[in-house]
Amino acid sequence: MIVVKVGGSAGIDYDAVCADLSARVQAGEKFILVHGGSGETNRVAEALGHPPRFVTSPSGYTSRFTDRQTLEIFEMVYCGKMNKGIVERLQRLGVNAVGLSGLDGRIFEGRHKDSVRAVENGKVKVLRGDHTGTVEKVNTGLLELLLNAGYLPVLTPPAASYEGVAINVDGDRAAAALAVALKADALLLLSNVPGLLRDYPDEASLIREIPANDVESYLEFAQDRMKKKVLGAAEAVAGGVGRVIFGDARAGQPVSAALAGAGTVVS
Ligand code: ADP
Repeated sequence: MIVVKVGGSAGIDYDAVCADLSARVQAGEKFILVHGGSGETNRVAEALGHPPRFVTSPSGYTSRFTDRQTLEIFEMVYCGKMNKGIVERLQRLGVNAVGLSGLDGRIFEGRHKDSVRAVENGKVKVLRGDHTGTVEKVNTGLLELLLNAGYLPVLTPPAASYEGVAINVDGDRAAAALAVALKADALLLLSNVPGLLRDYPDEASLIREIPANDVESYLEFAQDRMKKKVLGAAEAVAGGVGRVIFGDARAGQPVSAALAGAGTVVS
């Protein structure tokens, strides 16, 4: 079982990801696909007159401030346009994909964080009304039913809080928790860069290998959202996933290339 997470940034080639994945599924391999949708969510939010607000925590992590209206726009795009677009591509390729969010069957569950500490104009502020959280628990029952019946699950945030409220969670870390829960052989984190770059954005500075026992020391190379991927990789290998690969989803055969060792391999 391999967990593939494909991001939501500009330049990602979903046709290439789905074509590659469908060939491997048809050859008998088992996958779960997790996807993002941040780029499209930003566009739709702007168009609806509720532009995105990103906040940076005192420790340097950037996240989307998710008030109720943002959460609803987020669901429209992630669970709607993005999820169904990917399921449709896979169905056209003959793969029986089923699209679900982390809310469905409580696949992704975690604590609701209502307030967030954010640095604004050099000062730390507490912002309330946030619908975010972190996946702490993966309920695999529904996924096992689907996998055993031959379906390909296509998953997306949000997650369910313990109270059943929808919460925005980081897709990379959700995919990492999923890979740990399912004892996946590998976790692929595919995005619009060749992998983790030592000197971002210089693509020639690709880091080829990261030892599993030293992932966190590579956080220093990752800026803003790449940090979540490095953190997710650290969590996955600590939880027993054999290999995590940061790969390129912009063209070619993104899944096969990553599995063949292109990109940054954490093992
Ligand atoms: P996605 O939505 O595709 O999962 P993100 O936008 O969350 O991806 O994270 C990937 C982005 O992180 C890259 O597009 C790049 O702009 C940025 N980034 C920051 N630091 C690095 C780095 N050291 N190596 C590669 N990418 C980096």
